[in-house]
Amino acid sequence: MYIGNVMLRIIKLINKMTKHRKVTWECVNCGRQHRSYSNRRWEMQICECGKSGLDLEEFYSRTMGEIKIIKEEELKK
Ligand SMILES: [Zn+2]
Repeated sequence: MYIGNVMLRIIKLINKMTKHRKVTWECVNCGRQHRSYSNRRWEMQICECGKSGLDLEEFYSRTMGEIKIIKEEELKK
């Protein structure tokens, strides 16, 4: 299973290179504050008012509605 081993090493390397982020954001519509983590994947965090949301991924983020980024931090592994 040589190819399998190589794949595993590549995955481990990618894991090492990516840094998880934590973003604190505020919904412009209602002012509620939220925290999003990039290591929780495939999940858009939507404000209780339903007007805004943030989907944080490792390499990009997707927003819905109007949000204000308050703080962006790197998470230590
Ligand atoms: Zn809101």
